[in-house]
Amino acid sequence: MIKVCKFGGTSMADGTTLARIGKIVEADPARKFLVVSAPGKRYSGDSKVTDLLIELHRELEGGGHVGEIYEKIARRFLSMGEELGLKGEVEALLEETKEDILREKKYDFTLSRGEYLAGKVAARYLGISFVDAREVIRFGENGRVDAERTYALLRNALQGLERAVIAGFYGEDAAGNVKIFSRGGSDVTGAIVARAVHADLYENWTDVSGFLACDPRIVPSPARIRSLSYKELRELSYMGANVLHSESIFPVREADIPIRILNTFRPEDEGTLILPAPDASGALRPVTGIAGKKNFTVIFLEKSLMNAEIGFAYRVLDVLFRHGISFEHMPSGIDTMSFVIDSEELSGGTLEEVEREIEEAVHPDKISVFSDVALIAVVGHGMSRTVGTAARLFSAIANTGVNVRMIDQGSSELNIIVGVDNMHYERTVRAVYEEFFKK
Ligand code: ASP
Repeated sequence: MIKVCKFGGTSMADGTTLARIGKIVEADPARKFLVVSAPGKRYSGDSKVTDLLIELHRELEGGGHVGEIYEKIARRFLSMGEELGLKGEVEALLEETKEDILREKKYDFTLSRGEYLAGKVAARYLGISFVDAREVIRFGENGRVDAERTYALLRNALQGLERAVIAGFYGEDAAGNVKIFSRGGSDVTGAIVARAVHADLYENWTDVSGFLACDPRIVPSPARIRSLSYKELRELSYMGANVLHSESIFPVREADIPIRILNTFRPEDEGTLILPAPDASGALRPVTGIAGKKNFTVIFLEKSLMNAEIGFAYRVLDVLFRHGISFEHMPSGIDTMSFVIDSEELSGGTLEEVEREIEEAVHPDKISVFSDVALIAVVGHGMSRTVGTAARLFSAIANTGVNVRMIDQGSSELNIIVGVDNMHYERTVRAVYEEFFKK
């Protein structure tokens, strides 16, 4: 049995949390490979090391030197070292790293040092091997992870190691430079490692006891999701439920490796299990979770006999394509078609240009634009098997006095997306939650 454990920023925040990690790892011999993030916040208002490194890079770019900001970063690691009885080693490591940063002077390199240092300290404290991600995570020419090469390198490096710590968040590109993932990318590293070693489970240790059925800032203490499928997770995280980096699903899904979200601060909690397929055991709720985001724009087009006009959608999409705009949804009717787009993509006059170009391209009878739309995704495999889910959903929304602007039911029947005015967002989420989780 092999488990790959990724520990997030709050789990790596200081010496005390690292000592917790030590206990967690010791408790289970299957926890062989650990992937770590850079130290995150210790308390609200604290800085994440990665954010400090961004500041440091800016300072260096602007001709400044590694003064105060580096000191701040160094202090974080030093006090960690002191707490764990590794002061001398951490000091030496910090000196070396400072020189490396000054020599390389590159954004990706500087940012990667949080995970590098965290990994080194963790490995030293736990008395296990350290594996530099630079040697095992490879990006190809296209900027994406070269999966085959990476898996081979990882297998080779980890083979025969009893236990190891791998620094998260970065790797090396085709030109031999350090390259980072997008923010939160240690989740992706963890998934890649899990896949490479054919892990039985990918444990993602964070500071919450799993996925909640909806945003706790909107509904106080919502139910925890005990298990969900990769597909449901993808839908929920795409729509803003942020526990796992959305790209971290792909490597493990390919190999049917389940993920468990666990809480470093409450290791006895069961967390949330993410499975390749919906859990067949137990009663299936129609709705697994609710997520959403504000600030979308809907461009609505109407033209009679649109259905018979070949190339209508193609020409509209071409306008979006030429502006480099991606759209989220495209609900359509016989003579209508709408595009739901993140409002940010249309800012700075782009919306007006796009409208004009669509007019010219397809001469619609009507083109209307609704901005300030919030999207709410109601997600669950159980929906397709339960009669009346849509009716319950829409009557719950109607009963709260909210007007639905748009509906899109994914063809997989895994989700229903509802568009409402931004100002009705929270109220709608609450009403939907009440309907499906409180009754
Ligand atoms: N430290 C990086 C960040 O804050 C990556 C990670 O923690 O996964 O985004």
